[in-house]
Amino acid sequence: MFDWHQFQHDERSPAPAVNSRKRIRICGGLFLAVVLAIFARAVQLEVSYGAAYRNKASQPLEKEISVPGRRGRILARDGTVLAADRKILSLAVDYRWLEEPPDPQWLKRTARARLTPEERKNPGRVTEEQRRVLAERTAAQRRLAELAGMTPEEWKARAETIQNRVERIAERVNRSAQAEAVTPTGQDHGWQGWIQELSEPPPPPRIIIAEQRDCHVMVELADPPLVSAVREHPEQFPGAEIITQLRRVYPQKTLAANLLGHLGPATGEEAGFKDQDSPQDVYHPEDLLGRMGLEKQYESVLRPRRGVRVEISERGGRLLSAYYRHPPRDGRDLRLTLDARVQKTAEELLDEPHSFSSGAIVVMDPRTGALLAAASAPRFDPNLFVGENPAAAAVLNDPRRPLFDRVARMAVAPGSVFKIVTATALLESKTVDPEEPFFCNGYLDRPDRQRCDIFVRQGVGHGETTLADALCVSCNVYFFHHAPRLGCDRLLDWAERFGFGRPPDVDLPGQSAGIVPNPENIRRLERHDWTVGDTQALAVGQGSLTATPLQVAVLLAAVANGGKRVTPHLFPGLESEESATPVPGLHEETVARLREGLRRVVSDPAGTAHETVFMEDLAVSGKTGTAETAAGQPHAWFAGYAPADDPKVVIVIALEHGGEGGSAAGPMAKRLLLRLRKYGILE
Ligand SMILES: [Zn+2]
Repeated sequence: MFDWHQFQHDERSPAPAVNSRKRIRICGGLFLAVVLAIFARAVQLEVSYGAAYRNKASQPLEKEISVPGRRGRILARDGTVLAADRKILSLAVDYRWLEEPPDPQWLKRTARARLTPEERKNPGRVTEEQRRVLAERTAAQRRLAELAGMTPEEWKARAETIQNRVERIAERVNRSAQAEAVTPTGQDHGWQGWIQELSEPPPPPRIIIAEQRDCHVMVELADPPLVSAVREHPEQFPGAEIITQLRRVYPQKTLAANLLGHLGPATGEEAGFKDQDSPQDVYHPEDLLGRMGLEKQYESVLRPRRGVRVEISERGGRLLSAYYRHPPRDGRDLRLTLDARVQKTAEELLDEPHSFSSGAIVVMDPRTGALLAAASAPRFDPNLFVGENPAAAAVLNDPRRPLFDRVARMAVAPGSVFKIVTATALLESKTVDPEEPFFCNGYLDRPDRQRCDIFVRQGVGHGETTLADALCVSCNVYFFHHAPRLGCDRLLDWAERFGFGRPPDVDLPGQSAGIVPNPENIRRLERHDWTVGDTQALAVGQGSLTATPLQVAVLLAAVANGGKRVTPHLFPGLESEESATPVPGLHEETVARLREGLRRVVSDPAGTAHETVFMEDLAVSGKTGTAETAAGQPHAWFAGYAPADDPKVVIVIALEHGGEGGSAAGPMAKRLLLRLRKYGILE
């Protein structure tokens, strides 16, 4: 741009004085033009925006704070609190005291604030103070981690998670602010455009978002020593404070854990950042929402809505006033049909030392479908899933699958319990005369297959057997013999009418439909075409047939309530007259025959549950099931109702690889019924 040699040369050569003066004038003129342009812009800014900027500078600071509401509680029907938000104390640290590397503006400001006006004039002194702030920051963080029982690495990782989140939000906010601020002038690049540019306000400075001024939770549920250290010596922990938070607690620990489910953080699209237009519809990044069980199913009922609190303070920091732009709204409580005592009894029965490790117990009102207990074993403690807890990983990786709800999701072969469906099909299709006996010699055609249990154990058959006898002693051969004439279509039809093969619509997420094998799906299930043997296996609840304890409870309820299909539920909002609908085509006489057979299962000395369930003073009806499995012990079932003549409860006990239905599930049924009677539930 500037040729030095030329200049040198010019100096040496005798240059005319007029040239030099001319150059000075040109330079001076240019300089004046620049000064004028700057002055003009300053005047223009002052005239157009001066008042607005001055006004803004003199205005107090307004800060918006997102305030969480309280999530609705989950209660048992007697008021026992199963889940609730409780106040806890947590350690929160100012963002600037966590950020790595530290924000230079913040560092400078913090250091200068500690100095006298005299000291601030000395740059060396300011630098020295900045070093001191940083050293204090490091020391305070190390000490806080120590008090919280965290390693420096754990502390650092937590701080990084927070910083990443805040930076992501800041990036988004600034990107959208920039997009709004830039108003393209488009076609015009001439002097008109230049004038227009001049008349626009300067581009917006980078926005500091609220999260960068806020404190962030570093330790949830801080221990008392940490709380008192920070509260008593705030000067030792700059940037740190103890705050009150709401935290989900499950006071009954593992009680009904599989029904309650647990919460998890909002992720992806659920976790929008603060949206001023619709703050009610977006989850805050720190919000937790239902991820399993009732917490998930009734999220819309339980969910609280955040409020926005506005704090107005002087530039110096003194709080002037505060108000709610939107107050937070608490979620609604959910009072369940569940009876805490019955649930506890059922869980204790499952938890006793047994040969099996998993199973389920259902106690349901057969008139309405209201669940009094829906116990599953093994269980977990939902408290482990609140906050970041390494113990939660152990639950997730447990091979016994404690998170798996056995009540609504465990679909296994129901075995002889399914004979109730087969008996219904035989009666309704008039395939058999229920009074006409069939002679059981222990096996159908060959002594090595299609046998009765009694033949396997004692080498004898059941002899003369009517339909009620066949239910009472659980004679397989009776059903094997009649199944071919009944045909698979009619059997499948009744299975469908009772609700097998589809989810029972209980108000729990993730329920299983079970499997009903049929001529269409048998190739996929068993790699062969449908044969009469498949109809016979289905007739006794074997083969590829699977059902959940809840589906079996619906079947038993229909027998107990005189032929109606109920919808099992935990929230009484679903309870109405329509919730029990007649099973289509099921006649009263058929129900009466079934009830006679099921009563004899317990009352008749030959009945499969007589030995273990019979009580002189309490009439119980039911059916045992011993479902053979490919490997290991069979699944043990007892499904029944009581009192036999005026049923108040249906009970279903299903033990995975539990052994023989009568001897394994029967005694548990008896103890459960005795307890129900003690609680006054059978009256
Ligand atoms: Zn038999």
